[in-house]
Amino acid sequence: MAVERIRCGMVNCWLIRGADGSVLVDAAVPRYKDQIYDRVKDCNVRLILLTHGHPDHVGNAAYLAERLGAPVAMHGADMELVKNPKGRKLYADTALGKFLLGGTERSLYKPHKFELSVAFKGGEKLDEYGVEARIVALPGHTEGSVGVLAGDEMIVGDAMFNVLKPTVARMYEDRDVMMDSVTHIRLTGCKRILPGHGGAFGVERFFAGG
Ligand SMILES: [Zn+2]
Ligand SMILES: [Zn+2]
Repeated sequence: MAVERIRCGMVNCWLIRGADGSVLVDAAVPRYKDQIYDRVKDCNVRLILLTHGHPDHVGNAAYLAERLGAPVAMHGADMELVKNPKGRKLYADTALGKFLLGGTERSLYKPHKFELSVAFKGGEKLDEYGVEARIVALPGHTEGSVGVLAGDEMIVGDAMFNVLKPTVARMYEDRDVMMDSVTHIRLTGCKRILPGHGGAFGVERFFAGG
């Protein structure tokens, strides 16, 4: 099994490739729709999993679901964000976080509507979609944020960032809840963290003492 990065400008999609299919994690922004489709069209994508409801991660969900014939899954708690991206307040406390937050707020748009076929809560296994991986609830950045643990790698959505360096989410709905989720990431025992923004990094680059 392997997890491959699909770079879409400032945001990543990740493709988990298993023996019996693939799971595409996140769907970036509309202008990358053909690039993502061409990259995954021969990979037997059996599920499109959205780490959370922000527009930069769900933009092509409807388009890809239709072209790939794959169901779309996310945490039920973020569905309202998809319908109303400005419906929940985000916070940031660092200068860079505030800068990024400004950009996020300017870019909020109404994504294409899509049918949510599967609602996850955390703990679900993805065997039925062809990959050995497990959903992990990571609330805080948004209430319905999830990650995916695949072997010793963990896709974390926006629970952690690697913009300039590995950090906790640069912006969040609830900072305390987010910090608990970052602790949870460490407790999974994963070795590599695959964020929504920036490249993958080893856990030792963020967590002292591994
Ligand atoms: Zn986000
Ligand atoms: Zn993001």
